[in-house]
Amino acid sequence: MIKEIFHPLLKDRLTLMRQKNTPSKFFRLAVTEIATFLTYEAARDFQLKEIEIETPVAPCKAKILAEDFVIVPILRAGLGMLNGALNVLPDAAVGYIGLVRDETTHKPIEYYKKMPPNYTSKKIIVVDPMLATGGSAAAAVQMLKNDGAKDIIFISIISAPEGLKKLSDAHPDIKIYTSAVDETLNENAYIVPGLGDAGDRIFNTL
Ligand code: URA
Repeated sequence: MIKEIFHPLLKDRLTLMRQKNTPSKFFRLAVTEIATFLTYEAARDFQLKEIEIETPVAPCKAKILAEDFVIVPILRAGLGMLNGALNVLPDAAVGYIGLVRDETTHKPIEYYKKMPPNYTSKKIIVVDPMLATGGSAAAAVQMLKNDGAKDIIFISIISAPEGLKKLSDAHPDIKIYTSAVDETLNENAYIVPGLGDAGDRIFNTL
C-alpha cells in the first residue's frame, strides 16, 4: 500500500527543501520537521491496546500503543530523518543499515548493519528521504525480513514512480508513506524535479 500524505505544512517545507539556494541548516531542519509530520501521519494506522490505569480521581481503562518500535535510517541520508521520527516515537529503538551502489552492477551492497537485540518482533519504520530507483529500499527491507522481521513500514519524503513500483512489487506487504510523488528519474537516477542529493544537502558536503 502506498500512501501519499497531503498536508499544507508538508507542502510548505518541501518547497523550502526543493529550492537550490536553501542553506544546509534550513534544509536539515525541514527534513526533521517533515519526518516528524510523516511519522505522525503513519501513526494513524498503528494499533492500540487497552490497559487499566489510575488517575488521581479514579481507576479507568485507557489506550496505549500496542507495539514497540524500531526506527531504521538507511545511511547516510536517512540519518537526517531520525530525530524527526524520534520526536513522535521517543521510546523507539534505533537500528542502522548502510548500503552502497556497486558502480558496475548498480546493485546495492551492504556495508553496515547494526540492529537492536530482539528487534524482529517489533514494528520497524525504515526511513530514507529519497525513494529513487527503490533498489536500496527493497534491499534494506529484504535484509530485515531475512532476520525474521514481519511488520515493516517505509517512510520517504520524495518518491519516484519507479521506486514506488520497485519497492511495492518486491514487498507488497509493507506500507509506504511519502509526502510527494515526483515525475521520474533522470539518467543519473536522480529524482526529477526532486531536490538533488539529499545526503549532501543535509550534511553540507556539496
Ligand atoms: N538520492 C538523492 O539524494 N537524490 C535523488 O534524487 C535520488 C537519490
